[in-house]
Amino acid sequence: MEFNIALIPGDGIGPEIVAGAVTVLKAVEKKFGHKFNFTETYMGGCAIDKYGEPLPQETVDICKSSDSVLLGAVGGPKWDGAPKRPEAGLLGIRKALGLYSNLRPSILKPQLKDASPLKDEKLKNGLDVMVVRELTGGIYFGNREKAEDGSWASDEERYSVEEVKRIGKIAFDTAMLRNKRLVSVDKANVLESSRLWRRTMTELAAEYPEVELSHMYVDNAAMQLAINPAQFDVIVTSNIFGDILSDLSSAIAGSIGMLPSASLGATKCGMYEPIHGSAPDIAGMDIANPIATIVSAAMMLEMSFGLSEEAKAINTAVDKVLDMNYRTADIMSEGMIKTGCKKMAELIAENL
Ligand code: NAD
Repeated sequence: MEFNIALIPGDGIGPEIVAGAVTVLKAVEKKFGHKFNFTETYMGGCAIDKYGEPLPQETVDICKSSDSVLLGAVGGPKWDGAPKRPEAGLLGIRKALGLYSNLRPSILKPQLKDASPLKDEKLKNGLDVMVVRELTGGIYFGNREKAEDGSWASDEERYSVEEVKRIGKIAFDTAMLRNKRLVSVDKANVLESSRLWRRTMTELAAEYPEVELSHMYVDNAAMQLAINPAQFDVIVTSNIFGDILSDLSSAIAGSIGMLPSASLGATKCGMYEPIHGSAPDIAGMDIANPIATIVSAAMMLEMSFGLSEEAKAINTAVDKVLDMNYRTADIMSEGMIKTGCKKMAELIAENL
């Protein structure tokens, strides 16, 4: 099969980790007989430098005409305090592609158990949770107001039934592909918007009789993630709660250099990226961990292209290389073999 993939390397370590993912995707092409057409484009700080804009129209056009987008990361100190922010490119491209959901799987690999901040006893049942976060609504996009004299400010949390329904559907569909347990997280004891959220999720559950839906307040969900993360299969929540809970679940899984994410909308064209940022402190040193980007590419193959076997092959190759004791600096421990970004990607490609 043939697919068009837009590549946005971005800033900092972005070009190194995206190159690593391309190395692995080329090995997939060869092994499975597919054709991936890559088109590289600019977003973030590098786009500000080249075009004066974090998200040039050309980038939007390339992404829209592709089957999916693979992103490295954007931003860095060079553009801190600049009138235009690299991160504005991220919000812009999500909007332009209508990507209203963000899926973050957090899996604790047994090889990296020591990297988790939780004690062994809390992890004895493992961790394999998918956080489904609403991405284009809620308080991050509501009305903002502030008093001219600076004495007050407000941000509006607003959700429509339609917005909750469409993210709910993604979450229920995701649960159907996993262990069929969905926890909807809200603050319905206080917030009107959360009561609408809870009512809509409960109504939607009637369409998914096989999925066991439960509700949890966000404060309790944070505590439960820290004390018994194995109880969760899929979590669905609003933009702001998802922002916080997905960072927490990622931290529990260990290094941010390992974890992927997918942003999806109404079409099959999604955007796939590691959860970490552009790591300017280690940019250009060939020491970044490319695994988060490589497994993001695996999510792309599975979720946007329907290539489950190929995605599984990538994840198995990653496990194999970890079992062979190869580690990048961020996940290095005693007795392991230290390897760089490029070499790690090559090892995964070779072991596909
Ligand atoms: P960061 O994730 O870039 O880095 C945090 C720490 O983790 C650093 O010490 C870094 O070296 C390390 N790290 C991150 N990814 C790694 C990898 N693949 N391998 C090894 N180590 C890795 O977060 P930050 O320092 O807060 O942000 C740096 C820049 O990235 C900022 O400009 C920020 O706005 C931007 N950012 C971008 C995105 C995105 O593009 N989606 C997300 C978060 C932050």
